[in-house]
Amino acid sequence: MGLMRSFFLWGSRSCTLREFLPRYGFMRKAVSRFMPGEDIENALNAAETLRDSRISTIVTHLGENLLDKHEAETVAHHYLEVLERIQKRRLDCHISLKLTQLGLDFSRDICVEHLSNIIERANAVGNVVWIDMESSPYVDVTLAVYRQMRSKFENVGVCVQSYLYRTAKDIDGLLPYFPSIRLVKGTYAEPHTVAFDRKRDVDDNFFTLSLKLLDAARNNTMRVGIATHDMPLLKRVFHNASQQGFSRDSFEVQMLYGIKREQQTALAKQGFKVRVLISYGSFWFPWYMRRLAERPANVLFVLKNLFSK
Ligand SMILES: Cc1cc2nc3c(=O)[nH]c(=O)nc-3n(C[C@H](O)[C@H](O)[C@H](O)COP(=O)(O)OP(=O)(O)OC[C@H]3O[C@@H](n4cnc5c(N)ncnc54)[C@H](O)[C@@H]3O)c2cc1C
Repeated sequence: MGLMRSFFLWGSRSCTLREFLPRYGFMRKAVSRFMPGEDIENALNAAETLRDSRISTIVTHLGENLLDKHEAETVAHHYLEVLERIQKRRLDCHISLKLTQLGLDFSRDICVEHLSNIIERANAVGNVVWIDMESSPYVDVTLAVYRQMRSKFENVGVCVQSYLYRTAKDIDGLLPYFPSIRLVKGTYAEPHTVAFDRKRDVDDNFFTLSLKLLDAARNNTMRVGIATHDMPLLKRVFHNASQQGFSRDSFEVQMLYGIKREQQTALAKQGFKVRVLISYGSFWFPWYMRRLAERPANVLFVLKNLFSK
């Protein structure tokens, strides 16, 4: 793992940095490149703008590893309200959340109860809930909770990560449930014992898994989200998908707000289904450190904002 990447991933877990860095204006300015604002209204306004370019969206309220029962409850209520706001604005905008935001770290039962309520409400208003995948110790429980939810509801998807050796097997275990799956490379610092270290291996696995998912989704209602900004890799996937007879709208290309904006618009124009994940909220520090780890060149934006007035 590169030194810079390790540094930022360490930073994402540092309580001291999390405490004082977000107070600085230059940090807030730098993060605005990836986040339209801290408030849900900022996120939904951005979703409306993207809609004009035929791009659908997902919103996520930043936060993870909550340890307080009341905080988890507040997050759950917040998501219920977000579903109403999306419906009022008639947006094609899903929601995405982390199980540790709903209390998984202190009570699986409480987490499942909140999650069920959110998915049930989303179902009632015709919306979809995506469950993010967190670091490797959470994979088993996340997949178990997903299977539990999928047995009751259709409108729920889960994320899987191509950097983990186990993911092909995990997908096999999910397929009997006709799952909706978002495939990503993975964003956490993982040991060699569980994850590929070399980018090339992560990319090759991503490619293989994306074709596996497309194949499984043939002739059923499974949703497949190919979530990456890696254009050469995406082209490889598109090429093989088209050779195997998949149309451009048989899967979604999912990307993050603010990354590869021009390519997002271009793909939508070419007839691909594009969905952009928009993050908001005040707890953005660990998430932003992970964005810096993905592309240390982003640090230049932080420095630019530090030295500009
Ligand atoms: C919709 C969506 C949902 C996600 N959900 C999860 C999740 O639940 N769990 C999880 O572990 N991970 C999640 N991720 C993050 C993912 O794991 C990767 O860390 C992230 O997408 C970067 O990897 P990449 O596939 O773009 O490939 P990379 O090889 O990292 O990047 C390819 C190219 O994309 C551009 N790029 C990538 N990242 C950035 C950046 N931060 N800033 C500027 N340019 C960049 C660069 O040009 C880079 O060369 C999600 C990503 C997306 C798009």
